[in-house]
This record gives sequence, structure tokens and C-alpha cells, in this order.
Amino acid sequence: MPAEPEAIGIDIGGTNLRAARVAAGGEILQWFAERSVAEPVALVDRLVEMIGRLDNPHVDSVGIGVPGRVDALRGEVLSGGYVDLSSLPLASTLAQRTGKRIFIDNDCNMALVGEMAAGAARGTANVAMLTIGTGIGGAVALDGRVLRGQRSAGQFGHVTVDVGGLPCACGRRGCVETTSSGTALGRHIREAGLPADMTAGQLLGLRLEGDRRAEAVIRAWAEPLRAAIDSLVAAFDPALVLLGGGLGKAAALALQSAPALSAWYQCPVAAATLGDDAGVIGSALAGRREADPEKKAVP
Ligand SMILES: [Zn+2]
Repeated sequence: MPAEPEAIGIDIGGTNLRAARVAAGGEILQWFAERSVAEPVALVDRLVEMIGRLDNPHVDSVGIGVPGRVDALRGEVLSGGYVDLSSLPLASTLAQRTGKRIFIDNDCNMALVGEMAAGAARGTANVAMLTIGTGIGGAVALDGRVLRGQRSAGQFGHVTVDVGGLPCACGRRGCVETTSSGTALGRHIREAGLPADMTAGQLLGLRLEGDRRAEAVIRAWAEPLRAAIDSLVAAFDPALVLLGGGLGKAAALALQSAPALSAWYQCPVAAATLGDDAGVIGSALAGRREADPEKKAVP
């Protein structure tokens, strides 16, 4: 019997690079993480090394989740933030250097594929996702497929929640990334006079004790996020909104302070369950699927 094909999935984060060799069913066979590198040429060298370390004769494809706007069909990064790979043709460079089929996509798109295959969105065809970390990523799947638009649909971190708000990296003001990312939470905490090193977990604990400053910080963080989620529900009518990334679970708890008020836009909101594994599993599965045109629908 021929061995099951395997795929490599890599998730490029601002803090860590995570990589795994993944079976066709989504199980992780081998896994490691390294500290991230911001400089594009050094990062490509690291990716080549990581692929080499996980490679074996059963590996037929590599998927890589990249932060920022990605043109997955052309294999190019259009723009990035804390890691910006837009200066080089990423997929073709890596394909040339590794001899592998390379598929790149936005990191939240990849995490959504992972959660739909093996996590909180298993069996759900219409799902919107926000990943809440340094910034806010977004993705939506309709009828089991990740929506791409012309090139890079799903940039939900840039849903406007305050027209006159703080400047955003995208050039506009008041995007939800400026109010409800991890970076923004740190700012809300500092502005409230709470200890700068306070974690989201500690803040949620203080709220439970009835601390008014903690409640105010959580509302400042969660209410714009709720507004953005309502807009996603209005636009896409998903069966589920998933919150992933390092602060996904904390954000789902924080939303208890900002319930959906409109009867029109009610939708279950849940924390993603695969944690950091969603990115590598989704990257590997999406990479494999792109290698096989018959398997384009999410399992
Ligand atoms: Zn923006």
C-alpha cells in the first residue's frame, strides 16, 4: 500500500515561526517552533531550512500562512505589517530553492481552514474568523470555501468602528485593529492606570472581582470588537464567528461585557480550539488541496 501523502505547514508570526509535518487527515506528525525574523531575505533562508528539516519522500506540498494581504493565486504578498514579505516573489522563490510545490495565503485564511478541518468550526460551512494578536486578522468561508474576492478578501482588522479614531497602518482611522488588537488592549490598560504588564487573564480576573477600571478597559476593548462582529454578521450571515490568535479566548470572554444588541445580527461567537496549531494544520491542508485541484472544498 502506498504511504499516505504528507504536507508541511508553516505559520509566520511576529514572535514565532511554527512549522509542522501534517498527515492528510490533519494530524501533526512532527512540529517545532523558532523565534521569528523580520528581515525578508533572512526569513526566506530560515523558511528553506525549516522545510528541509521536515521534508521526507512522502511530502508533496508546503503551505505557508503569511500575515498581511496575500494574493494566494499568484503566490505574492501584497503588503505586510510587523513581518513584510511584499518585496519578493515568495512562493516562486521558495519553490525554486526547495523543489516543492508551495502555496502561500493569509495566515488567518490558513487558521480558518485548520479550524474547519479539525477544530471549532468542524462541519460548519459558513464561518467568519478574527485572529486577535499583535494586530487583527480576518477570514471568511462561505459554502465551505475561503472567500478571496479579487485577491485578498477578509481583511477584517480594517473594519471601521470609529470614523474619527486613531490612525491605522492601512492609512485610514478607527479600524477595529486600532481599538481591539492585543496592542490596543495594552494601550487601554496603560491609559486606565493599570500595571503595564497586566495580562488579559489578570484583567478578566479583576472584572470578576467587580473592579470598575478593569470593566471599563474590557468594554473599551470589546465594544468596538462587537461592532465589527455585527458588521461581519450583517455582511456574511455566518453560522459561527470564531475568535482565534493569542487573545481569541480572552476576547470571547470579554465580549460578555458587550453583548450583541440587535436582533438582526445574532450569531454564536466562540473561541477557536486548535490554538497555535490551527495555522500549521490549515497551511498544510490548504497546501495539499491546492496541489490537487479535485479537492478544493474544505473537508
Ligand atoms: Zn486599517
